[in-house]
Amino acid sequence: MEQKIMELQPRLTEHFMKLTEAGKLSHAYLFAGPAGSGKAELALFVAQAVFCTGRKDGMPCGKCSECRRIADHSFPDVVEVAPDGASIKVDQIRFLKAEFSKSGVEGTRKIFIISAAEKMTVSAANSLLKFLEEPSGDVCAFLLTENASLILPTVISRCQEFELQSPGFDELMERLEHEGISRDRASLLLGVTGSLNLALELSGDDEFAAMSADVWEWFRLIMTNDLRAFVNVTTHLKQYFSDRSEQDMLLDLVVLLVRDVMLLKFEDNGRTSFAMHRDELRAFSEKISAQRACRATELVLDSKKLQAVNVSFQNILETLTLKLVSCYHE
Ligand SMILES: [Zn+2]
Repeated sequence: MEQKIMELQPRLTEHFMKLTEAGKLSHAYLFAGPAGSGKAELALFVAQAVFCTGRKDGMPCGKCSECRRIADHSFPDVVEVAPDGASIKVDQIRFLKAEFSKSGVEGTRKIFIISAAEKMTVSAANSLLKFLEEPSGDVCAFLLTENASLILPTVISRCQEFELQSPGFDELMERLEHEGISRDRASLLLGVTGSLNLALELSGDDEFAAMSADVWEWFRLIMTNDLRAFVNVTTHLKQYFSDRSEQDMLLDLVVLLVRDVMLLKFEDNGRTSFAMHRDELRAFSEKISAQRACRATELVLDSKKLQAVNVSFQNILETLTLKLVSCYHE
């Protein structure tokens, strides 16, 4: 865990290591950032830095009993609260406060971590507020949120706020690979979702795997000027027309394919989404003009607009097939 958060948020981990080492932690912090930006990991890292018995220069050892129990969410002086159902209720905050009125189980310090803090009900937030105004004892609170604008300004004003940026593409690729997903597959999943959590979710989806294979086959026929691509819409792609989200996904995959062709036209080492078919895509991009590559992208984006005004999806894809074939080959 320590390694992961140091890679994900190097500047912030260093900042908190220094604060902990100097004994200068404030009473309350707000970590705002998208899913995957490491909010909870950072809060737990600071908790480890505070309680670790083998800390060096602010860096928790990760091995002592304190570090391990904090990573396992089983250390009594680090209390975590998450929404119970749709919201964080006042009883949960009361429980926290009761916890903190006792002295620390293992020492005098206590840390609490509230996930999805924007889901606090107003009474829970007000209850927390009183607590933040008069912290009892040596307490440090971490409020985590994806959307700070939904938290009461009075609560925010009691906290030091930090914005956590979401990790870049390379970082996301590495994390997907770490989950056992191949590089080629990871670039497609990220191309479609742009997010680590969604990419992970989609990685186990058999229908997505089948759809991306079928869309590739259809596009391969278009690249080779094979008009069977037109029939392919009915014989293979039609099974994905049943609902709007599938249609969106299918068109998104087509967008990625025409983009890949365009990208490879301009940049030999461009970051392709259909990386597993990179060689074929590159060979094709070399045969067509840049103008045709750009025009194809426009055609697909036009199809997305038609879909928005409810034209039959089969109609849209058949028309797109013919237009792409003529755009690329005539
Ligand atoms: Zn330790």
